Amino acid sequence: CGIVGYVGSDKSIEVLLGGLKRLEYRGYDSAGVAVVGPDGTLGMRKKAGKLQVLVDDLAEHPLANGATGIGHTRWATHGGPTDGNAHPHLSDGGRLALIHNGIIENFAELKEELLLEGVQFASETDSEVAAHLVARAYRETGDLTEALRAVVNRLEGAFTLLVVHADQPGVVVGARRNSPLVIGLGDGENFLGSDVAAFVEFTQRAMAIGQDQIVTITPSHVAVIDFAGTPVEAQEFEVTWDA
Ligand code: GLU
Repeated sequence: CGIVGYVGSDKSIEVLLGGLKRLEYRGYDSAGVAVVGPDGTLGMRKKAGKLQVLVDDLAEHPLANGATGIGHTRWATHGGPTDGNAHPHLSDGGRLALIHNGIIENFAELKEELLLEGVQFASETDSEVAAHLVARAYRETGDLTEALRAVVNRLEGAFTLLVVHADQPGVVVGARRNSPLVIGLGDGENFLGSDVAAFVEFTQRAMAIGQDQIVTITPSHVAVIDFAGTPVEAQEFEVTWDA
């Protein structure tokens, strides 16, 4: 339901929780974050219930903060509102994390394909297939953007997807089809959000991402391509309402 991505300095957790808080008005049943730590590890916490349940869990079981992270609030469509069905979903031995807004209409056949390969599922969501497909494509290409591009071309339905990998600190890759995603431009840091509320506290410079496009952000760079891999010139605009 709500999506936040961040690359910059070692304060991802605060940025993600702040963004999710600003997206709470949309409604949700679960929340979670994943952070790539400075030592090349990926940490993840997710909980059913209000954002405060996640905040309390993080206080009890702290995550190493990092400069790269993704955060999600879920409105369950496939699988009940449980801790396990909350996002992020992990793959690649816990080194890749993915969040999803929307519905992957053809998830059942994709899940069947992965099950036949021996992939183990930890949730009942449609979203988890995307995590395992991106992990498989990443093993083949070694490039997170290309991996996500290969996968989105196989997905039907509505999706905003964000993915991070422990091997790629300082990189968040996102994609959208029939579901919103916006870039927030910072100084030595960049943001992604399902709407500008996710990052308006930190920057009012934004960029729209068109239908069927993929964005890769690093602390100093933003690149947008379409699902065919062709570079796209994204338009910058100013967020005019007050934080
Ligand atoms: N379909 C996904 C799920 O049920 C994502 C729902 C959402 O947009 O929050 O987990």
